[in-house]
Amino acid sequence: MTHVAATLSASLGLLLMALLASIGAVSVYEGERRAARVSFLAAVLVAGPLLGAALLPGPFAFFALSIGALIAIGVVSRCVFPLRRAVEPGGRASRRVDERDIMFARGRLRPGSPEFDAYYRMRPENLANDNRTRALPGLLSAGAEKAEPLSFAAADACFSVTEALRCRVDGEVEPVRQERSPREWTDALTGLALGWGAKAVGVAELEPAHVYTHIGRGAGTWGSEIRLAHRWAIAFTVEMDHRAVAQAPEAPVVAESARQYVESAKIAVQLASVIRDQGWPARAHTDGNYRVIAPLVARAAGLGEIGRMGLLMTPRLGPRVRIGVVTTDIPLVPAAPGDDLSVLDFCTVCRKCAVNCPVGAIPHGDRIEMEQGRRWVIDDDTCYRYWNAIGTDCATCMKVCPYSHPDTLMHTLVRKATRLSPGTRSLMLWMDDLVYGRRP
Ligand code: SF4
Ligand code: SF4
Repeated sequence: MTHVAATLSASLGLLLMALLASIGAVSVYEGERRAARVSFLAAVLVAGPLLGAALLPGPFAFFALSIGALIAIGVVSRCVFPLRRAVEPGGRASRRVDERDIMFARGRLRPGSPEFDAYYRMRPENLANDNRTRALPGLLSAGAEKAEPLSFAAADACFSVTEALRCRVDGEVEPVRQERSPREWTDALTGLALGWGAKAVGVAELEPAHVYTHIGRGAGTWGSEIRLAHRWAIAFTVEMDHRAVAQAPEAPVVAESARQYVESAKIAVQLASVIRDQGWPARAHTDGNYRVIAPLVARAAGLGEIGRMGLLMTPRLGPRVRIGVVTTDIPLVPAAPGDDLSVLDFCTVCRKCAVNCPVGAIPHGDRIEMEQGRRWVIDDDTCYRYWNAIGTDCATCMKVCPYSHPDTLMHTLVRKATRLSPGTRSLMLWMDDLVYGRRP
């Protein structure tokens, strides 16, 4: 009996040491120094006593093993309970949005231009706030707080490529229409997008509230009414590099955002071109040239949920993605809308993005009912003003989000665990705070 207790104690100690040391090694590989330090320290602090107990006289080994078993039972119980917690789904958007009202469109208005005058005649209440933002150095400006010439130049180069692709978002449709079943078209187009670098692809039936009412930026005349009659939307995500996001809010993150906008624009433009070539109309929606609200479409296409920080939360990469959309009439099979309640529940208890937002633009409270569905409403004016002060797109919220960790086996297991129960979500959040810090 004594011998068995000692053997068990030693085996458990070695197992835990191997596990925690592996987590430490993975963290070193991921460049997460704090996580590596905490994991190696935990390997010593947790496994050490068990290994030491195995060397003790019989009763002490038995006692140590009993303590270990009690802790294990406590952890497992914490994982399992509570089994359920009521979470309301996000619901559907019911009102269309005017693109001229979004902060990116307002940020482009130049004083003295006809658009400027027309907009502030229509919305005089936004003028004072927007002028405060306009007085700041601006995105990618040399005078901004986080200015870094090389990264800003890289971002600028990428944005100019995305802009150059604007003339390719739409085009002539081949007169001869190719026919396939909706399933075959869906599989073929999904395969193409994945082959070109998309991480996830989904199809949604386009709803009126997905489409902006008037053009606020991009191709077309500012203020024109948008009439997009396509029935379907193909939404897809591309991954932002983890190491670049980890540097947020410094300049490399905006270079990475711009790079992934190019990638998503390329895929969208190519996909739309293929569809038109098959005799069906299609339009690509790219950065600065959307006719649709991309996160809403992506959510309806089953790619994720809208999290506390207002971004699409995907199951594999969290918010660390950029979204591309193609709208079309080619027959397709829609996915079930995104309603991953485990993500919404996690966001309810987590609040890490809200704690770390440098300007307090993310709410700490509950979701509220609005015409855009039940959601957390971020103060996007304050967020955008901060971008204009520092010159980058910040992304601190994206960096600290527990769902943003790399798409590796270790993090995939953790993400799967968060789907099991509210208890595992609380446990995983506690571990994330311990390993990476509440304020990483
Ligand atoms: S940091 Fe936490 S609260 Fe914020 S979006 Fe990510 S999971 Fe949700
Ligand atoms: S991007 Fe930065 S400023 Fe904007 S909400 Fe996220 S953390 Fe806050």
